[in-house]
Amino acid sequence: MNVLITGGAGFIGSNLARFLLQQGVDEVRILDDLSTGSSENLNNLKVNFTEGSILNFDSLKDVTEGVDSVVHLAAIPSVPRSIVNPRASHEANTTGTLNVLEAAREVGVGHVIVASSSSVYGSNPKMPKSEFDWTRPMSPYAVSKQATEGYALAYQYSYGLKALAFRFFNVYGPGQAANHAYAAVIPKFLDAAMNGRPAQVQGDGEQSRDFTYVETVCAVIHQAVLNQTSSPDPVNLAYGTNTTLLALLDDIEAELGFRVSREHTVPRAGDVRASQADNRRVRELFPSVEPLGLKDGLAMTVEWF
Ligand code: NAD
Repeated sequence: MNVLITGGAGFIGSNLARFLLQQGVDEVRILDDLSTGSSENLNNLKVNFTEGSILNFDSLKDVTEGVDSVVHLAAIPSVPRSIVNPRASHEANTTGTLNVLEAAREVGVGHVIVASSSSVYGSNPKMPKSEFDWTRPMSPYAVSKQATEGYALAYQYSYGLKALAFRFFNVYGPGQAANHAYAAVIPKFLDAAMNGRPAQVQGDGEQSRDFTYVETVCAVIHQAVLNQTSSPDPVNLAYGTNTTLLALLDDIEAELGFRVSREHTVPRAGDVRASQADNRRVRELFPSVEPLGLKDGLAMTVEWF
């Protein structure tokens, strides 16, 4: 079995590459422009790495030729970055996805998995979030992810491509960078705590998230690749936990064994207030995957830090 991971030098992609190789996948190819990812994430991994952009259709087509599945993760993966530069976000995420699907169609690859996001639920207050609820994107990033899944699922109807769109919630774990302005909350809090700085909490800290350990995400994607799983509807890839940022800080303190001071700053534009997945579909489609709980996942992440 051969798999192409776009964005495979990033956080989720490099964990996935390692996981697929450990599970005996024959060849893992990676196409990544290293805009937010790093080739260091691929150290010691036997992958075929091509540095390039999904916006370059010719090189994309070349690396797509002959694989069994494409796992499309390449994107500018950030709400605030999309607010600063919506056009760049649209190009990488929406046009980029269309390119990935077109390349698969042209070279005859039959199975494509795409990464959407819980941000598509946006201002819809219903909890937990079911795949059949209305989406109400609040940022250009969320719109680009809605387009990502829309295109993938439309290719299923229009061209018979087997497609699967996962809505990732908040994925965390080893390899997630803390050292940039758009870092995710867990590495940001850990980095502050371990370097003696206060954790910066945007808003009151009562906003909630459904955190999923990266290896759980990899295990689900591995099953989807093995079984060439497709679906006419998106699938939440999270397990229905609901943790406020303040509760997360309590868990981090418990794991580190010392108090972490907190500093509240202004809420972030385009941020959703509460997020929790209805996890019935992911459990039904991938019954063999048992998610790792937050406390255990934090322990693994702290160990990597
Ligand atoms: P990441 O930034 O670590 O990985 C994205 C990768 O895509 C990077 O390696 C980057 O260099 C690459 N990339 C960006 N533009 C590219 C282009 N034009 N051509 C080729 N490569 C390009 O982010 P991540 O957290 O690993 O996210 C992976 C995917 O999951 C993204 O699509 C993101 O939107 C989605 N997602 C992630 C989360 C999360 O919690 N991490 C949540 C929801 C959705």
